[in-house]
Amino acid sequence: MARNIGAACRSCRREGLKLYLKGDRCYSDKCSYERRAFGPGQHGQARFKKLSNYAIQLREKQKVKSMYGMLEGQFRLYFQRADLQKGVTGENLLILLERRLDNAVFRLGFASSRGQARQFVRHKHILVNGKKVDIPSFLLSVGDTVTLKEKSRANVGISDNLEAVARRGVPSWIELDKDNFKATVKALPNREEITMPIQEQLIVELYSK
Ligand code: SF4
Repeated sequence: MARNIGAACRSCRREGLKLYLKGDRCYSDKCSYERRAFGPGQHGQARFKKLSNYAIQLREKQKVKSMYGMLEGQFRLYFQRADLQKGVTGENLLILLERRLDNAVFRLGFASSRGQARQFVRHKHILVNGKKVDIPSFLLSVGDTVTLKEKSRANVGISDNLEAVARRGVPSWIELDKDNFKATVKALPNREEITMPIQEQLIVELYSK
């Protein structure tokens, strides 16, 4: 499966905010955005230029794509699916993205970033309803369980990640049994819990042109 392998820190600097794509590094003083909070490249420090509506919508879409580590084709498919669902398309889109297995593994603190979560899923460290699932885009439903494989639990990095997530908090739609490295999807994610500054309506406007 294709994935976005562009420079993560560059994306943060391009979008003008921290997207938290590199795990622990994002919370340390090594964060590139903390050091150089201006756009990447030769003209990154050029004076602020007023963006057109189209550019604003495009940047919003690129930001969300970077956050979830997705490529254009995949992202557009999510949008089409969200558009076919009942309700508000933009919210549907974010909820679909949140339901991805790699996102849940990250939110639960088994991994320090979505990129690492994707790798854990691909390397078959994760079970869904007791069975190995190695598809990061697998969509979780209410009642599904997500478990870290027993052999993988000794990984020191994972204990650190779990401690870090205890500080950040696990979203209420997924219940974590930390001692057994197991989580249950209690409900579908809700918009209010997606706290990153996202204006999903701009993405809807962009794709609706
Ligand atoms: Fe973004 Fe993390 Fe890189 Fe900082 S360290 S610029 S938050 S990806």
